[in-house]
Amino acid sequence: MSHTLAIENLSFRYQKKTILKDICFSADPGESISIIGPNGSGKTTLIKIISKINKPEKGKIYIKGKDIQTMSNRQLARHIAVVMQSVEPVSMSVEEYVLLGRLPFFKKYQFFETAKDIALAHKYMKLTGIFKLKDASINNISGGERQLAAIARALTQQPLLLILDEPTSHLDITHQIQILELISSLKKTLCLTVLIVLHDLNLAAEYSDRLVLLNGKNGKIYKTGTCEQVLTEESIQNVYHAKIRIQKNPVSKKPCIFLVTQTALNQKETQVS
Ligand code: ADP
Repeated sequence: MSHTLAIENLSFRYQKKTILKDICFSADPGESISIIGPNGSGKTTLIKIISKINKPEKGKIYIKGKDIQTMSNRQLARHIAVVMQSVEPVSMSVEEYVLLGRLPFFKKYQFFETAKDIALAHKYMKLTGIFKLKDASINNISGGERQLAAIARALTQQPLLLILDEPTSHLDITHQIQILELISSLKKTLCLTVLIVLHDLNLAAEYSDRLVLLNGKNGKIYKTGTCEQVLTEESIQNVYHAKIRIQKNPVSKKPCIFLVTQTALNQKETQVS
C-alpha cells in the first residue's frame, strides 16, 4: 500500500543557495511527524514544496502514490490541507472563513456552498471549539482562536495529510497544549497523517511519533527516527550548537531538553572551587 506522503531525493535551491538536499522520508495514516531544525534550515521551504508553491529542483513527492506534479492544485487540495504560521487579516466571519476549506470541492458553476459543506464546517468548528464564534469577524478574535479557525478550515477539506507550520509559535503554553492535544486526538479519530513544523523541541518530543531533523548546513537531513533516536545531546549540540542536557520527562518519559547557560556553568564552577 502506498504511503500517504512519500518524499524521494528532494532537492531545492533559491538561486545558487542549496536549501534542501536529498530529502527522503515517508508518512503513513495515523502518524505524526515533526520537522525540526535551526532557523533557516528549510522547514517552511519543504512545506511550500509539498504544497506546490515551490517547485523542487530534483526529486519527487507522492501523495498516496501519485506524483504531486501531475496533480492540479485543486486535486492536491482535496488530499492535503496546510495551516500556515499566521492567518492573514480578512474581513469575513469565522464561519465564512472555515467554509473556504470547501472550495476545492465546488463543482463547475457552483457559486454557493451546499448543505453538506455547511454541515462539515459546523462539525469541525465544533470539534475545534470555535463554533460559538461563528459570526465573529476573523479580525476580532484572538491569535489562538484564529489558529483554531485555520485548523477547522483545513479539516473541512477532509485531507489525508494535514500540514501545520509552527501552529503554536504565537501562543501561550495553555493554547500550545490545547492545539497540539487537539491535533493529536484528530490524528487518532480521523486517522490523519500529520506533518508539523515545530520550533519547540520538547513539544515535538511529546506530540510526535517520529522526527525529521534538518541539519541547517547543507540542506540535508541530520537524522530521522523516534524522539529518543533523534533528540540526543550529541545531535542537538551538533545541529544547534547549543549546550544542553537531556533527561526523561518525569510523566511521559519522553526526552526533555534543558538549556545549559554560560551563567549557570560559571556559577557551578564557583560553587565547586
Ligand atoms: P526555516 O523554516 O527552517 O526557518 P525557510 O525554509 O524559511 O527556513 O528558509 C530557508 C532558507 O531559504 C533561509 O536561508 C531563507 O533565508 C531562504 N529563503 C526563504 N525564502 C526565500 C526566498 N523567497 N528567496 C530567497 N531565499 C529564501
